[in-house]
Amino acid sequence: MSGPLRLGIVGYGKIAQDQHVPAIAGNDGLELVAVASRHNHAPGLPNYASHQEMLATGPALDAVVLCQPPQARFEAARDALLAGKHVFLEKPPGASLSEVEALIALARRQGVALFASWHSRYARCVPAAKRWLAERRIDRLTITWKEDVRHWHPGQEWIWQPGGFGVFDPGINALSILTEIVSEPIRLIAAALETPVNRQAPIAARLELATADGVPIAAEFDFRQTGPQSWDIVVEAGGETLCLGHGGNSLSLAGAGDDGDIDGEYPALYRRFAALVHERGIDVDLAPLRLVADAFLRGRTCPTDAFED
Ligand code: NAP
Repeated sequence: MSGPLRLGIVGYGKIAQDQHVPAIAGNDGLELVAVASRHNHAPGLPNYASHQEMLATGPALDAVVLCQPPQARFEAARDALLAGKHVFLEKPPGASLSEVEALIALARRQGVALFASWHSRYARCVPAAKRWLAERRIDRLTITWKEDVRHWHPGQEWIWQPGGFGVFDPGINALSILTEIVSEPIRLIAAALETPVNRQAPIAARLELATADGVPIAAEFDFRQTGPQSWDIVVEAGGETLCLGHGGNSLSLAGAGDDGDIDGEYPALYRRFAALVHERGIDVDLAPLRLVADAFLRGRTCPTDAFED
C-alpha cells in the first residue's frame, strides 16, 4: 500500500467530530476521504446517506471507521469486511458478544485488520498504573465512575435502548482500564442495576467483582452525578494507595501527582490501527464487554424514578 491510508467514517456524531476527525488530520499516514451519516454532514468531504452507498459509489477506501451507536455497528462492519476493508470499531465493539465473535471470524477469513478500540486504555497514566500493579499484590480495587448524562449524552436516545448499555456506555471504559491493568482474569459476582421505569437500560449500577485469587473489586457507575464528575480507580496494595483519576489521565501516589488531559488517546488509537493494517492483524479484546454482559446476565434489576432528558 502506498500513500496515506484512505478512511471512511460511518456515523458522524459527537465522537467522530470531537476526536476522530482531529486525530486523523494529525496523522500523516491517514486521510479521511468520505463520510456516511444519515443526517449529519461533514464539511469539505464527499458525504453519503449510508455505509452501503459510500462503499458502492464513494472514493476508494482502505478502511472504514465505525462511530455509530453499538446497535448499528454490526451490519456496517460486516459489509465493510466483505468489501475487503480494514475496520476500526468504536467502543463498545458491538451490542452483543456473539456479533463481535462473528466479525472476528469474518475479518480472519477476509485477511483484513479488525480493531476493537478501547480509548481509555490509551489514557496517559494507564501504562504507569499497570507497571505499578505488576509489582504488587493488590488488596482492594475500587472504581467510581459518575457523570451527568444530561451534560455528556444530551438527547442520545440510543443509550437508553437495548444494546445501548445505559450507564455502562461510560462504565465500560472503566472496565477496559481494569482489565488492562490487572493481569488476572476478573469475574463478576453480583450486580444491581437501577433502571428508570420508562427506560430499557440502567441509569446506575453497582458491581461486585473479584480476581480469580479473590481480590475484591467494587465498581459504582452513576449517570445522575451533578457537580464534580468522577472517573476514578483507587488501588490499595501493601499499605500504599494509587489513584488513577480523570479516566486514566491522572495518577497520584502517596501525594505525588501527575495530571494530563485526554488529547493523546485517539492519536494513539490511530497509530495502533495503522500498525494493525500494516500486519493485517486483529486486536479485539472482549473482556470489558464480557463483564458488562455478565452484569446483565447476573444482575438484579432495581426499578427507579423515570428519567426525562
Ligand atoms: P452520537 O453523538 O449519538 O453519534 C452517533 C451517530 O451515529 C449519530 O449522530 C448518527 O448520525 C449515527 N447513527 C447511525 N445509526 C444510528 C442509530 N441507530 N441511532 C443513533 N445514531 C445513529 O454518539 P457518540 O457520542 O458519537 O457515540 C457513538 C459511539 O462512540 C458510542 O458507541 C459511544 O460509546 C462511543 N464513544 C463516545 C464518546 C463520547 O464522548 N461521546 C467517547 C468515546 C466513545 P446520523 O443520524 O447522521 O446517521
